[in-house]
Amino acid sequence: MARTPFIAGNWKMNTTKATAVALARAVAGGSTSGVEIGVEIGVAPPFDYLDAVSQALAGSNVKLGAQDVYFENDGAFTGEISLSMLKDLCVSFVLTGHSERRHVLHESPALIAKKAKAVLDAGLTLVHCVGEKLDERDANKTLGVVKAQLDEIVALPADLGKLVIAYEPVWAIGTGRTATDAQAQEVHAFIRGYWATKFGKPAADAVRIQYGGSVKPDNAKGLLAQPDIDGALVGGAALKADGFLSIAAAAV
Ligand code: PEP
Repeated sequence: MARTPFIAGNWKMNTTKATAVALARAVAGGSTSGVEIGVEIGVAPPFDYLDAVSQALAGSNVKLGAQDVYFENDGAFTGEISLSMLKDLCVSFVLTGHSERRHVLHESPALIAKKAKAVLDAGLTLVHCVGEKLDERDANKTLGVVKAQLDEIVALPADLGKLVIAYEPVWAIGTGRTATDAQAQEVHAFIRGYWATKFGKPAADAVRIQYGGSVKPDNAKGLLAQPDIDGALVGGAALKADGFLSIAAAAV
């Protein structure tokens, strides 16, 4: 089945207001010049710059994303940001379960599941990240780890058009080390197969599964050509508009 590839840039805790706006403008400019026909493109800047980036993207078809969210709508949650605040800033997709939230900020599966539910309940697109650490891969636990992380969202009623799964092996994130095309495809096929056992093949065929982990212009083509890889979640290489846009072009 035809799935529109989704290339999303995760800017993490990088940029200043000025460089974020310049980067957003360059991505928007490149995307409206036709690079992305047949591809969905999005960027997830730091929270502080969502408003400025939202304005810089106005009139383009580049989607605005948030790197995280809290599940409550308002109240005494110091330092947190809600779905209604994100919607106010025209955010259309939200990441949950990114490996840095799981392993650096120590978010629990229960918290991640609540965040994912809140995103879907709010009607935004959920990009739910899953992936194994190196010791887990070495111990042949990859598929078990990924299955447990999928179980965080498996019970959620989802409009499948608004559900994206990102497979990101932790050992490949920000390390310059990438899963081979075959390693990535194997896990993507497992994810789709697991989804089919839960919701049936048509639903599984509709879900987009991004790969993330040191995706760069020179390795994007091979990864994106795999039958179950429907886009990329890009960290470091998303900080330069040219490279990011050439990854998007490789998806077509
Ligand atoms: C990410 O942050 O999701 C990511 C995949 O980072 P990088 O592309 O830098 O490995």
